Amino acid sequence: TFEPISADFYGFSTLLSDNEKEGLQRIRDYMESEVRPVINEYWEKAEFPTHLVPGFMATDVARYAFPETSPFENSAVFRGFAALEMSRVDASMATFIGVQEGLAMGSIGVAGSAEQRAEWLPKLASGEVVGAFGLTEPLSGSDSAKGLRTTARREGDEWVINGAKRWIGNATFSDITIIWAKDEADGQVKGFIVPTSTPGYSATKIERKISLRSVMNADITLENVRVPESLRLQNARSFRDTARVLRLTRAQVAWSSVGVAVGAYDAAVAYAQEREQFGKPIAQHQLIQDHLSRCLGNITASIAMCVRVSQMLDEGTQRDEHSALAKGFCTARMRETVAWAREAMGGNGIVLDYEAARFFADAEALYSYEGTHEMNSLIVGRSITGHNAFV
Ligand code: FAD
Repeated sequence: TFEPISADFYGFSTLLSDNEKEGLQRIRDYMESEVRPVINEYWEKAEFPTHLVPGFMATDVARYAFPETSPFENSAVFRGFAALEMSRVDASMATFIGVQEGLAMGSIGVAGSAEQRAEWLPKLASGEVVGAFGLTEPLSGSDSAKGLRTTARREGDEWVINGAKRWIGNATFSDITIIWAKDEADGQVKGFIVPTSTPGYSATKIERKISLRSVMNADITLENVRVPESLRLQNARSFRDTARVLRLTRAQVAWSSVGVAVGAYDAAVAYAQEREQFGKPIAQHQLIQDHLSRCLGNITASIAMCVRVSQMLDEGTQRDEHSALAKGFCTARMRETVAWAREAMGGNGIVLDYEAARFFADAEALYSYEGTHEMNSLIVGRSITGHNAFV
């Protein structure tokens, strides 16, 4: 039976249906029994535990976003809680699903034709096919709408793609990568489902990261990569359609950042009960209680914001600025929270074995990916003032 986590202080998970609680419990069981025992080792080696993918996908974790693959009707709040649940054990595993379900399936779900959805969504949801999402480039990150340099040229029934991508998650072992490229003819950004076995496509792992070390990020080069017209996302007509995918995933990253904060907070609460200084557990010192209560305040405010932004998705009222505010606000609160939790653990707070250290380090990647804090502020700022301040 499903028990709310103690950091869900105001009991937001009471909003979930029985089916949703069961679904969440399956994800929780897998994360606790299979991922938690090995993840520090993989993090330290900077490897992704690919052997866990089939078992993890069997929990239905990537099936919920689309009606074609979902075992039951579910809410966006539930899918957000799933991101939190994964991330409070390991943000790398949550990022793997964020890329697979949010970005790769999301691109096909939002911008694919009915045939493309029917062909690809079930294969990606089961894990038979692993997907990646290639938007960012070596020379364009925040500026990915106008600054994209990868090109696509139509030749008869085929497209020829040339360019480079950077930071692409899962791309060292993905079967397909969604590549966003500018059509040489009309200058618009279009999306392509590129099988990674296509000649001219290559991916190299980015080494020496200090955050999300278990996520495999890649530099990709595309040299005269040819794909048929049938693999062009039929409803991706401009960057506006790419942004529709990102609106959905940004809200999920906000949820994920709450999970990272909860992971560090839980470690600090447990540590404070065990560790004694000045003749009593540090949990009995007032300033440690202040650290913990500030963490819980951040977590509770962030869950409330995430719940509402997810409800707005289901109500059909969520706009780009709503998910941008949640992503920017919650990742900033996460960054404070992991720092307070780590601080409450003294020196042991920087050692992997004591748990908080991994969350502390992983928070940095979540803070910057899917739109930096500055970019999300500019999306919100445009909505507040009516002025576009990007350029
Ligand atoms: P830049 O755009 O170069 O920004 C550098 C700094 O300048 C930032 O602080 C930024 O906010 C600031 N800045 C830029 N423009 C302005 C402005 N107009 N006003 C004020 N400040 C500004 N991308 C993918 O396509 N697919 C993935 O799977 C993927 N996974 C990722 C995983 C990880 C671990 C990381 C770190 C990144 C990933 N990314 C991925 C890329 C990610 O989305 C980008 O890193 C992010 O958008 C920022 O781009 P950038 O790193 O090029 O920074």
